[in-house]
Amino acid sequence: MDTFFLEFRDPLFGIIIFFVLVFVITFFSYWFSRLKKKEDYRHLDKFLKQFHSLPSQNELKVLITKGELSEKSWLLLANSYTQNGNYEKSIEIYSELLKVGDKSNYRDTLFLLGKTYFRAGFLERAKQIFLEILKNNPRTPQALNYLLLVYEQMKDYNAALELLEPLGELKKDVTLISAYLNSLSILNSARMTPDEKAYKLLEIYKSCNHLDYLVFEYVFRINPKAAWANFDVSKSELLVDVLWSCDKKDLNFDIIMQNGYLRELYTAKGYMKAATKSSIFELDVLISLDSKANATLGFEYICDNCKVVYPFAFNRCSSCHAIDTSRAELSLVKDYHKDFSEENNSFQ
Ligand SMILES: [Zn+2]
Repeated sequence: MDTFFLEFRDPLFGIIIFFVLVFVITFFSYWFSRLKKKEDYRHLDKFLKQFHSLPSQNELKVLITKGELSEKSWLLLANSYTQNGNYEKSIEIYSELLKVGDKSNYRDTLFLLGKTYFRAGFLERAKQIFLEILKNNPRTPQALNYLLLVYEQMKDYNAALELLEPLGELKKDVTLISAYLNSLSILNSARMTPDEKAYKLLEIYKSCNHLDYLVFEYVFRINPKAAWANFDVSKSELLVDVLWSCDKKDLNFDIIMQNGYLRELYTAKGYMKAATKSSIFELDVLISLDSKANATLGFEYICDNCKVVYPFAFNRCSSCHAIDTSRAELSLVKDYHKDFSEENNSFQ
């Protein structure tokens, strides 16, 4: 016992206790800081998670009903959902706003809902919404325009044409759209033969002097003779891709020889030698190459109205809905067709 007390009073014992205390304090402080860090991460994860998952329909219902955000904020949010292609969420917001929102904005919100249904491809629902707006406010040009687009996409051209009368009364020029809808109606007709369709389209073209691409893209495919006979060569640039892919046997060289652009185009194609250079860079390069390189023309289509670029030609821009605004942009690309035909020839 005496020995124990003696050792307890030993200065070495005090030093050992000191180091033990230092170790215990360091261990607890390290453990506490790790725990705190983990807690911080968990909190941040939880915070960020709410931005990864979108609010459910019921959550949206509660949030909108609470009225913590103004109606304008909800409309902006719905619009950003639409811009990002999340039509489902924006439809949910508009539908809830129609139930609880300000009644003075009811028609505008209904119109936005109809537009979103249209963009999402729910044509029948969009139709019902625009019809509801027009039932109470028949002179709403925006609703009439969208209803016309819905009917056009549904291929109900007669219903679309009926809307031209109220649109015309609202002092809108409907000449082009009337010609366009009549042309689509002819193209989709099951009763007419392809040749009848071609001649009907040419009649429409003569009366409106527009829709060059829509009419001649079809007529060049079905009846190239009639196409060359009625084609306005001064508008060749509008149909450059159609003319470029025209079969050599279907070309009218008498007409081609009378037009500088067509001479350059078909010299670049290698069908004739009627030009030595061109002011258009792509044609100039192809004329200089003289079919010795594996290159051809590539096409992209830009909307003259909104400048959106598409990989395919269009008659109505799906972005701004303008008619007859497609313009071909040229580029030089590798000629895969030539590659393929050379490979086939090498096997013979
Ligand atoms: Zn456009």
